[in-house]
Amino acid sequence: MSQSYVIVGDGIAGASAAETLREEEPDADITIITDEGEPLYNRILIKEFAKGKLPEAPISIHEESWYDDRDVDLVLNTLITDIDPEGHTVTAHDGTEFDYDKLLLAIGGTPTQLPVENSDADGIHHFWTFQDARDIKDHIEQADNSVVIGAGLLGIDLAAITAAQDVEGKYLMRGKAWWRYALSQDGAEIIHNALRERNVEPVFDSGVDHFEVDDDGHVTTAVDPNDDHYDADFVGIAIGLNFNTEIIDGTGIDYDNGIHTDEYMRTNHEDIFAAGDITEFHDLILGERAQNGAWGSAKEQGTIAAKNMVEYGSEEFRWVSSYSITHFDFPFLSFGHPTLGDDHVEAKYSDTEWRRLAIKDGKIVGGVLIGDLSPQTKYKKLMREQVDVSGQKEVLVKQDFELDDLEGAAAEQ
Ligand SMILES: Cc1cc2nc3c(=O)[nH]c(=O)nc-3n(C[C@H](O)[C@H](O)[C@H](O)COP(=O)(O)OP(=O)(O)OC[C@H]3O[C@@H](n4cnc5c(N)ncnc54)[C@H](O)[C@@H]3O)c2cc1C
Repeated sequence: MSQSYVIVGDGIAGASAAETLREEEPDADITIITDEGEPLYNRILIKEFAKGKLPEAPISIHEESWYDDRDVDLVLNTLITDIDPEGHTVTAHDGTEFDYDKLLLAIGGTPTQLPVENSDADGIHHFWTFQDARDIKDHIEQADNSVVIGAGLLGIDLAAITAAQDVEGKYLMRGKAWWRYALSQDGAEIIHNALRERNVEPVFDSGVDHFEVDDDGHVTTAVDPNDDHYDADFVGIAIGLNFNTEIIDGTGIDYDNGIHTDEYMRTNHEDIFAAGDITEFHDLILGERAQNGAWGSAKEQGTIAAKNMVEYGSEEFRWVSSYSITHFDFPFLSFGHPTLGDDHVEAKYSDTEWRRLAIKDGKIVGGVLIGDLSPQTKYKKLMREQVDVSGQKEVLVKQDFELDDLEGAAAEQ
């Protein structure tokens, strides 16, 4: 009898799992369910759409025909609200039940709301879906001034959108630096200058205490904890993700911030797997549980999960994730887990070139490169192979660093 596979979530993790399942098991029943109204699109590119730099068409990855061609049952606009691991069913908001032999949860996260007064006012945007990008584009094209909150990788996308749409903006940050957990002041200063050049002014030691609204309920002003007032008829908030774990509650599936999996993407329930942003997976490189929030990692996890759903233990997830930003004249890349580690080393080479490596127990666990991305392959190799670089920190950040520069075993290639 053919196996039945149900995938919840048609993001890159779920869709790549469906593709792999079909390749591995030509006769299987495969169903993919999403609460969104459209099949897989490129979440990385929706910011370029909101900037006005790309039309809709190239953002889409799969037409509905892609699923038909592979005999994958695509169910749109359907929110799964219950999982019954014993009965092997999931139930949708409208009561429809789907039976499975193996289940994949590729359900990602939802942007965190700011818990302040009027944070649900008109004109305040969060950013995760293509529909969010359409709403942001429609609004920012008419806006006079803007405020962005969230000094991380998604916040800077919102700031870049306001800049690309020529809307004067303030970027309110806690602390004194953008992405202060991964960058030092020196590195962040490169980003601050690039923002200023684009008419986005970083405001430090700030944040939002509350928003003021007009008689129609539209935001007019962001008021920060110092009682400074910033005019804003457009507000973008990106302060993190709440992982969609509500449906896991009470099922016996282990989770914390995300769903716990082993290196085969299997949960503590033998017929239930998870992939993508939602997982807190056993990271073989770090030697501990970790979570990635990157497109390439989610795609790979979907593929690996599918292989292990077909044959458990067939392939493990071992991956150095990376995330690049293309808003400025210089390139920017973070890899691995740049905010972790017990040590680090950094160097600045010019006004737009800087590097920082995060090190844990003598091994590279992540880093950020600005300006010159050419050493990324070498650093990722050292990380993937868990090479001990103890005592050689300064060698690592030589501007023209080569693997041969490292002494002893570390130099083996
Ligand atoms: C604006 C933006 C820019 C980004 N830029 C980059 C970048 O430059 N580089 C990079 O590497 N990464 C980037 N990312 C992050 C990257 O897009 C994510 O890491 C990746 O898309 C995660 O894929 P996923 O499949 O795990 O989850 P998601 O893409 O979040 O997909 C999960 C899907 O499951 C659905 N779902 C959730 N719960 C249910 C339910 N109960 N029932 C039915 N459906 C459900 C959701 O609606 C969603 O469609 C960006 C993200 C955003 C939002």
